[in-house]
Amino acid sequence: MDKLNILIVASEVVPFAKSGGLADVAGALPKALRALGHDVRVVMPRYYVVDKQKYALKPLEGSLGVPMGSLGEEWGSVLQSVLPQSDVPVYFIEHEGFFGRPGLYDEEGKGYEDNDRRFIFFSKAAMQLAKKLRFRPDVIHANDWHTAALPVLLNTTYAFDPDFAYTGSLLSIHNLEHQGRFPKSAMDALGIGWEHFNVNELEEYDGVNLLKGGIVHADAINAVSKKYAQEIRTREFGWGFEELIEQKAYKLHGILNGVDYEEWSPAVDSLIAQQFDIDDLSGKAVCKKALQQRFTLPQRSDVPVIGLVSRLAEQKGIGLLAEAIWKIMELDVQIVLLGAGEKWAEHFFSDVASKYPEKFGVYIGYENALSHQIEAGSGLFLMPSLFEPCGLNQIYSLRYGTLPIVRATGGLDDTIENYNAKDKSGTGFKFYDATSQALTATVKWAVHTWYEEKDDFEQLRDNAMRQRFDWKVAAEEYVSLYRSIIRGRRKQEEQI
Ligand code: ADP
Repeated sequence: MDKLNILIVASEVVPFAKSGGLADVAGALPKALRALGHDVRVVMPRYYVVDKQKYALKPLEGSLGVPMGSLGEEWGSVLQSVLPQSDVPVYFIEHEGFFGRPGLYDEEGKGYEDNDRRFIFFSKAAMQLAKKLRFRPDVIHANDWHTAALPVLLNTTYAFDPDFAYTGSLLSIHNLEHQGRFPKSAMDALGIGWEHFNVNELEEYDGVNLLKGGIVHADAINAVSKKYAQEIRTREFGWGFEELIEQKAYKLHGILNGVDYEEWSPAVDSLIAQQFDIDDLSGKAVCKKALQQRFTLPQRSDVPVIGLVSRLAEQKGIGLLAEAIWKIMELDVQIVLLGAGEKWAEHFFSDVASKYPEKFGVYIGYENALSHQIEAGSGLFLMPSLFEPCGLNQIYSLRYGTLPIVRATGGLDDTIENYNAKDKSGTGFKFYDATSQALTATVKWAVHTWYEEKDDFEQLRDNAMRQRFDWKVAAEEYVSLYRSIIRGRRKQEEQI
């Protein structure tokens, strides 16, 4: 079983639809697995935002019947394309009623009320699709709550289905905060029998928790960094699941995400004003100027620009930043912020920009090109997260020679090495306490280093740009995890 059949099921995949880091992973990991010689297939929903023309989606013949428990059968259809620059097939589950909407999960910040049915349907459709394609997965790789029903289905509805006789399951946790909590009527759509509605499987406070079911039933679970895999076993980061995860620690792993350097390298990035690389940073100065222009900030080459690209959610430490911002504005710095999310934060940071038009630039919205331009044009990059399962922007920042200022949590702690003035080692600036004081002090430290310790700053930039977080490494770790899952599954099957 050298070559594995791997079915990756995710609610969002770059470049087709994205709201966060999950999409980056689901778009890049399959390509890296393919490059290692495995047969990988990706399944995602066909939302309205998926551009049929641009990605040349072709219909797969026939329709897809999906049994939805006592709700009866739902019919969907399937479209097909490939991940760009690869031959990895991507299948899009089309269902007008469930996915023909403007949002992925919500509209105007309000989650769709039928998200349970939408994603249970999607999970089941992925199973039905595998059968239709006669693709017998060695492993089904589910991601977050949206597809956490898959390990449950594999152990129940499909337990004796010969098409999945030896199929194992992995559930990746990209963010434990979002668990897929629904009224118990979700059991009707799951259609697996009420005996599974108990506190050791799917039940939580008289409702259904899909992620819980996934954690219980998956052959293995993994978090997207080693540190986060440890943190979720504690009360501070466990979101009420710390005991459950502690119990399941025997099957818990931590695999750090990689980065798609074809998309995120200043030497090949076509979205930035001028390309550059470690041997010649002149393009970075051009990018800085263009960025200042875009945000109508004074075009000073001497001032440090601190970039921020983030969902505006509590998780990202925006509350800390809001507290710290007035002290930071006393420094000789410029800040550019790209983000969207919580309304209070959108208003608050827009206000800061109108109070400090020469120091603070803001763009409320989601814009991929601008996120590249901020990485390229900034000198420092801020991520004051309260928790961060992996975090991607700090890793992109390293490659663009933009030194991260981060809170030492989860993937931020695993990927950034703190500046040590003694030997000029490190790749960024870290703080530990989740307080605005710690954040302010660390921003001051980074800004001081920019102005007063220029040699050190340059050395750190050099260290940062030499770092690599290749998907190949992560993919190899996933393959060995898949293999251990498959071995375990076979043993179980042989015992039956
Ligand atoms: P999370 O998944 O928690 O949002 P990650 O750091 O893992 O955080 O991934 C965030 C991804 O989304 C990055 O690729 C980042 O560049 C992108 N992103 C976040 N907000 C925006 C935005 N407003 N505009 C463009 N890209 C954004």
